[in-house]
Amino acid sequence: MNEKMRALGKSPSKIREIFEYSRGRKALLGEENVFDFSLGNPSIPAPESVNESIKELVCESDSVALHGYTSAQGDLSVRQSIADSITKRFGVTATADDIYMTCGAAASLTITLKAICNPGDEVIVLSPFFPEYSVFIENAGAKRVEVKALPPDFTLDFNALENAITVNTVAVLINFPNNPTGAVLNEDEAKRLSSVLEKRSQEYSKAIYLISDEPYRELSYEEEVPFMPNYYKNTIVDYSFSKSLSVPGERIGYIFVPSVVHESRDVYAAVCGAGRSMGYVCAPSLMQYAIKNCVYDTSDIEEYNQNRILFYNSLSDLGYTVTKPGGAFYLFVKSPSGDSNEFCERAKKYEILMVPSDSFGVKGYARIAYCVKRETIEKSIPAFKALIEEYKE
Ligand code: PLP
Repeated sequence: MNEKMRALGKSPSKIREIFEYSRGRKALLGEENVFDFSLGNPSIPAPESVNESIKELVCESDSVALHGYTSAQGDLSVRQSIADSITKRFGVTATADDIYMTCGAAASLTITLKAICNPGDEVIVLSPFFPEYSVFIENAGAKRVEVKALPPDFTLDFNALENAITVNTVAVLINFPNNPTGAVLNEDEAKRLSSVLEKRSQEYSKAIYLISDEPYRELSYEEEVPFMPNYYKNTIVDYSFSKSLSVPGERIGYIFVPSVVHESRDVYAAVCGAGRSMGYVCAPSLMQYAIKNCVYDTSDIEEYNQNRILFYNSLSDLGYTVTKPGGAFYLFVKSPSGDSNEFCERAKKYEILMVPSDSFGVKGYARIAYCVKRETIEKSIPAFKALIEEYKE
């Protein structure tokens, strides 16, 4: 048996652990009496276009072809439709040959990392970060190097990033809008990030890849997130439709390797090789065909925006220190005691379920997923009030 895999299987992520706890509480108390903010599971239905597209495909297509394997890299017409949408939306030339269809962002990331990493390579992540990054980077045989984002807004620390890049750095992994802080990169920051990477690439005479993990791209409420291939040539985009189309269980996303990336065709070949070596075979064919017709659509994102404003204002008014999120669907709240685990444990007394920040690589905060019904937020406010009162006693 592989001991590492056994250990991984026996220690589910903190997010999943709390989610499982919530199921027990809901069974006991009723769904409406538990304020479950643990999981980033979209709460808004998929747009009509997704369901219409699936219905039409199932009712009107040749069933054998519909459910058959596609090319390993994804159906050509689907990849063409995604490439066209990238060109149209961001002004970057994309072709079908630059797109590799995946089973969502988790697969995009594991495949990309496996494709570009060799043993001993370092991958820089900005903390706080999505905890599964640790698993994905280790799976690729690389070492995770953390660069702390700057509170209170969790912006990028360019000096720390520059210092963290070594001759062993193969990639910097970013995620904007960010899980768990909701931070969004602005255009100036995109330019600065690019110049740090250019500078270090030149100093070490090697390409440093920027991996942009983008499951929340469309969930940006105040400004469009800069599309990094427009700023830094060696960017690989790992995209997912999980959140934008509310289809996380359907497992569909893609990798975009722009043709200007260093050794682009070899990187793309390595992506195909990595997907093959991990047994992905091809992304789900029904979902590939379904999203082909929905590449410009999103769920009703304004619903999340309303949740964001209501929750942020309410918690701030109660005296919590909260980072105002620009995107995604998370609030990052400071623990009044400075201890994230203590805060989340104490909150359970009020049936408030949040995820302590330690597994995101930063201590002293809790993550609240606000992709929930509006009533859940409204009903939880008195509970949050009672909770913070305890710290004032
Ligand atoms: N990356 C980040 C930052 C995430 O928050 C998530 C899921 O929550 C993923 C990747 C994985 O997303 P997917 O469901 O598309 O695999």
